[in-house]
Amino acid sequence: MARKFLAGNWKMNGNRAALDEVRRLIAAHPEPTVDLVLCPPATLIAEMAELTRGHALQIGAQDCHSAEKGAHTGDISAPILADAGARHVILGHSERRADHNETDSQIAGKLAAAQAAGLTPILCIGETLQQRDQGQTLDVVTAQLSGSIPKITDPERIVVAYEPVWAIGTGRVAAPEQIAEVHDALREALHHRFGHRAKDIPLLYGGSVNPGNAAAIFAVDNVDGALVGGASLKAGDFGAILEALQAA
Ligand code: PEP
Repeated sequence: MARKFLAGNWKMNGNRAALDEVRRLIAAHPEPTVDLVLCPPATLIAEMAELTRGHALQIGAQDCHSAEKGAHTGDISAPILADAGARHVILGHSERRADHNETDSQIAGKLAAAQAAGLTPILCIGETLQQRDQGQTLDVVTAQLSGSIPKITDPERIVVAYEPVWAIGTGRVAAPEQIAEVHDALREALHHRFGHRAKDIPLLYGGSVNPGNAAAIFAVDNVDGALVGGASLKAGDFGAILEALQAA
């Protein structure tokens, strides 16, 4: 069975004053029993890594470049993120696919770079509402999965997050049956790719997870945790989701 895994994505939110939320979170949950990651804006990674030193909470980034270094103004490489204290990196988030036209093959390049730098990628995939309405959900997510995972990938250092685009930041959560259908298909696709090691890859659901709906989502088969956006900004809400996952 995959380990339980909870990640928070602060997106383009949070300044140094928001570090108080992290202090509150680790004070209230000194010994989490699941893998716990927060992905703040890149400017906060180093300070947050320092702040959480000695605590199980790990820090992640929200994107990386596929090159190790070089003339890429405004981008950040995986080795630079690792040097700042990041241990994970979100890749292929639908907001980056939409805002920056990221393709599966570009994401695969980033994923290879992240693993080479010792980071664990959290690969995001998910269908739009139009694709769901047209019955394309499973085709879309399995194509994204195979297109975004490069040939040489260590299955022990990858996390996959199913995030239906229509559920992100909308308050609209996928139904348990919808989540179960996609997660079963993803586990099967991963099994096809990695054999028995696929069962150890954490499969997260993401999309308007909050303290009120977390327990029902974590009860779904093949859901090993969540990638949480808005509700990860407040220690109280994120802590309540953590407790729901620990109890699942
Ligand atoms: C996300 O950004 O990955 C996300 C799931 O956001 P939210 O929880 O706010 O829907």
